[in-house]
Amino acid sequence: MLPLLQRDAARLDIEAEFPAEGFDRLRQMGLLRACLPEALGGLGFGDGAQGAIDLLNLLQGLGEASLPIARLYEAHVNALQLVCRYGVPSLIERCACDAIAGELFALWVTDPPEGGLKLSEKDDALVLGGGKAFCSGAGAASRALVTAETPAGIRMLIIAVEPGRRVLASPIKLSGMRAATTGSMDLDGLSVPPDALLGEPGDYLREPVFSAGAWRSAAAALGGLTALVKIHREEVLRRGRAEDPHQCARFGELVIAYETARLWMERAALRGCLEDDSPEGVVAYVNLARLAVESACLDGMRLSQRSLGLAAFMVGHPAERVCRDLSTYLRQPAPDEALAKAAQFYFEAELPGAR
Ligand SMILES: Cc1cc2nc3c(=O)[nH]c(=O)nc-3n(C[C@H](O)[C@H](O)[C@H](O)COP(=O)(O)OP(=O)(O)OC[C@H]3O[C@@H](n4cnc5c(N)ncnc54)[C@H](O)[C@@H]3O)c2cc1C
Repeated sequence: MLPLLQRDAARLDIEAEFPAEGFDRLRQMGLLRACLPEALGGLGFGDGAQGAIDLLNLLQGLGEASLPIARLYEAHVNALQLVCRYGVPSLIERCACDAIAGELFALWVTDPPEGGLKLSEKDDALVLGGGKAFCSGAGAASRALVTAETPAGIRMLIIAVEPGRRVLASPIKLSGMRAATTGSMDLDGLSVPPDALLGEPGDYLREPVFSAGAWRSAAAALGGLTALVKIHREEVLRRGRAEDPHQCARFGELVIAYETARLWMERAALRGCLEDDSPEGVVAYVNLARLAVESACLDGMRLSQRSLGLAAFMVGHPAERVCRDLSTYLRQPAPDEALAKAAQFYFEAELPGAR
């Protein structure tokens, strides 16, 4: 499946088009339900040690084939994991049935500058007011986990949206990740059933789940780096430049960056899924892993752009698209805070693996 996803990535990037056929393939392979527990008809991806490695391999593979697909899939997994953790049984059952039926879940939690989404009670019904920004899968996803302000605090809820509806014409256009169709959603007036609410006010930001989940987006970014390493190798070999000592040294450094990121991710996936430490310990480790992968990707792009030269900037060259997608996708929230918090933790705590 992955070569087929990879084949379509260039066209979907040019057209900024949602990868509908790619998601049909994921659906057919049962991957939209893979992150559900086995008891609910899933494959337990993300559950326990084996599930952590399965999900890591899948996200890395999807990221290698297409970063926009990996980003959209990661949000689907995130939303369903939060439903399973915080939802009432009727909601869990409904969402599991939806995922098995092939509905794509999005995760829309970023508020537009003009103000956050609000949930209020009107005539015994729950009604949303406002919208969300930076919504990947806008116009394509049929379900979404959103956060909304209530008098008691921020709540999570699941909404159903008709594909193609409620998408705002947005002046925001990202230079990379174009096939993730990241747009603004108008959710004003949408009513939701009471059991669509998940957890208690403030649960969305509850640790370690909130920060530890960052291992999944880092795994997708690792996939992007994997693609870049392979493109780089193929191009240098094709040009007959692999014997050059400078090209050799840069490729060696690139493989170091890749393997550093991969080793961090192996540990971070396990720690994020098993929650095998205090919440602070899991969060600190995953925060460092996320930043280690970011550094490896930034180093990887610098090395590839130097080795491939102008080819890496030519529209239509796969390195150009992968670097554009990767640079955009690496802009994840609050990197300074993630590093500072992890540093504070390890000022006090034993180092990972130290005896
Ligand atoms: C491709 C893509 C798809 C996305 N899809 C979705 C989606 O589907 N749903 C969704 O909800 N969101 C989505 N987002 C948005 C995403 O969740 C983040 O909001 C966004 O990536 C934050 O990026 P940022 O660089 O602006 O972060 P920021 O956190 O604003 O960081 C920018 C810089 O400011 C620093 N900084 C942060 N806070 C402060 C502060 N208080 N004071 C001083 N400095 C600060 C940071 O350390 C960093 O150096 C998407 C983003 C991308 C790139």
